[in-house]
Amino acid sequence: MDLGISRLEGLVSEPACRLCGAPLRVSFADLGVSPIANDYVEDVTATERFYPLHAYVCDSCFMVQLGTIVDAKHIFRDDYAYFSSYSDSWVEHARRYVEMMLERFGYDAGSKVVEVASNDGYLLQFFVQHGVPVLGVDPTSGTAAAAEERGVPTRVEFFGRELAAQLVEEGHAADLVIGNNVLAHVPPVHDFVEGLRVILKPGGVVTMEFPHLLRLIEKREFDTIYHEHYSYWSVLVVERLFAEHGLELFDVEELRSHGGSLRIFARHAGSNRAMAGAVASLKERERAAGLDRLETYTGFADSMREVKRNLLEFLIDAKREGKTVAAYGAAAKGTTLLNYCGVRSDFIDYVLDRNPHKQGTFLPGVRIPIHGPEHADETKPDFLLILVWNLTDEIVEQMAHIREWGGRFVVPLPEVRVIE
Ligand SMILES: [Zn+2]
Repeated sequence: MDLGISRLEGLVSEPACRLCGAPLRVSFADLGVSPIANDYVEDVTATERFYPLHAYVCDSCFMVQLGTIVDAKHIFRDDYAYFSSYSDSWVEHARRYVEMMLERFGYDAGSKVVEVASNDGYLLQFFVQHGVPVLGVDPTSGTAAAAEERGVPTRVEFFGRELAAQLVEEGHAADLVIGNNVLAHVPPVHDFVEGLRVILKPGGVVTMEFPHLLRLIEKREFDTIYHEHYSYWSVLVVERLFAEHGLELFDVEELRSHGGSLRIFARHAGSNRAMAGAVASLKERERAAGLDRLETYTGFADSMREVKRNLLEFLIDAKREGKTVAAYGAAAKGTTLLNYCGVRSDFIDYVLDRNPHKQGTFLPGVRIPIHGPEHADETKPDFLLILVWNLTDEIVEQMAHIREWGGRFVVPLPEVRVIE
């Protein structure tokens, strides 16, 4: 099967499974071609690059992953626009996590906490406030500079086995290693998890959060598939990956973030401490939902097409009735959704976003203009389509005043829903 080996600069084609090496030949989600989701367009006269966006499932180990990938250095650039601190609910999520971890594991001034993909220090700042020594690792210098301003020392590098060994030598062996929404971002998963093993002290703990593949399938969240997300994880598959590096899962929590995420707890294998039953019961649920059977994955294409038909129906009806539609959240998932559905400013007048770095630019591919939230007050749209549906509660609260002119909120997934 032709997996689209391309000679375009920056494209790397890996027709083999990154976990087990078997050839990738079964389609999970084919989104055609799409621009880099966070590559906001500043100059509408410039051309854009579109890359294949096609997730496969390995028919040997069931790891879901992109077939052709775009090299990370083309995605995580210095002007990379995502600053975690612009989301109030995400910062609050981080604060609560730190409180929980301090209570459960008792970290103090003698501990070391390392966060991989520490972004602008949104999380580690709370450990700093409690006097716990931290080190952030993040490849993006723009966000790293913001972290340093918050008092979070940050290494601007990609994390892997080599950097981990170097950090241990420099005295950064960790009692706690945190990786939130990063596992999906690294193509060489073995090198990354080996790095976790290397930097972790003998009694240390790793926690990682990532969107749960089970939720993606059940809630049709295909818009979380984009070029910087190379892989999509179930407990069944992540457990196998960690085990191959001498790490065992000993607990797991289900979270509401990013449309349904998991927080896994791991440690060096072979400790005789008790395991929480949560890992076993979640694996059982994944098997019951068919995540260990190929037909569960091959059936997903129908869900995607249904979402597209459903959203287009809503938009066509709204426009025929003379309504105006705006969107909220210039995030990567909006780029995926609107490019897949072919929705441009013919349907959606503009996208609102609080991030000033994005305002004045255009959503990649579909080139819908991005404005600050106050723009809605001038134009009074009839519908506000929430592209960042994982933050629906926050946005409905923040933009509640659109109801003064009869504006209504709309969520696109798993089926179009007008919030009354
Ligand atoms: Zn595989």
